[in-house]
Amino acid sequence: MDYKFASFKFFSNFLLTLIFIMTSLITPIKKIEAQNNKIGQFILEYKSSSAEPIIRELFIKTQIFDKIISSLNKSGLIMREDILVIFKDCGTPNAFWSPSDRQIIICYENTAYDIFLFHEKAGYPMETAIEKSIHETIVAFYHELGHGLIDVLSLSAVGQEEDTVDEFAAIMLFRTYPPDVAAQMVLDASEYYELLYKQGNRGVAWGEHAPNDKRLFNLVCLVYGSNPKKYAEVFVEKFYLVDQANTASPDRIKRRARRCENEFPQKMESWNKLLLPHYATENPNQPTNKPSGNFSGSSRRGTHW
Ligand SMILES: [Zn+2]
Repeated sequence: MDYKFASFKFFSNFLLTLIFIMTSLITPIKKIEAQNNKIGQFILEYKSSSAEPIIRELFIKTQIFDKIISSLNKSGLIMREDILVIFKDCGTPNAFWSPSDRQIIICYENTAYDIFLFHEKAGYPMETAIEKSIHETIVAFYHELGHGLIDVLSLSAVGQEEDTVDEFAAIMLFRTYPPDVAAQMVLDASEYYELLYKQGNRGVAWGEHAPNDKRLFNLVCLVYGSNPKKYAEVFVEKFYLVDQANTASPDRIKRRARRCENEFPQKMESWNKLLLPHYATENPNQPTNKPSGNFSGSSRRGTHW
């Protein structure tokens, strides 16, 4: 399967547009006053690439991850060690947390494969495919960040860790971006799993990851829960998509939808509680870091992230 992303003609124009869009997405926040020198930092590094140099250029020029890392470093999160975030050639499409090296690795091939799937397989125009692929890469980064924080902060993680960090990624995005932008990123990541699923790659029950149809539906469930009115249609569509056994009925769809409405604020609050002790109490950034999105159910909004 040749997914190598060698060149494309829209690159320059698209880059400029993307730089503008991405720059406007992340609200700058004031620098936290570090209380001591023990606060670990996220450190971003782009290794050279012989496999996917254009993907490397895409990330460097758009500065998407520079902004994400900067925002994390200003969030008030207290870590006792640095975490390196490294983009590099891996020889295969992947992204992972390396516990021994304390590194989040994002492989350039991962984004190249995303573009291959969205453009070549799903038929999206190149611009759309690139945008969706960047979104998937951002979600993948937050997924790995979830693994990293569970490890570095010794967070209690019950349940399957892979499912947990998929949720973490979605929740973190809703914390960081305007709700519509976060929802689109999460939906694009869910579409990546949908494309794998439609290609016959469902995954295996014994794997550490949930099957791809389950992963995609879990993400859609959270997006739906963030704004049920807005995402009702996509929820029903994906319900039928993953309903291999033809069990769907209006009543069942409605019941599951109600659970998703409750799950979103519940997950938001659970991550609040887990992470709250790891944030500086005096953080001038917090007023601009308030939770956003629609909440329902009995859960209350947290005040920290
Ligand atoms: Zn994982």
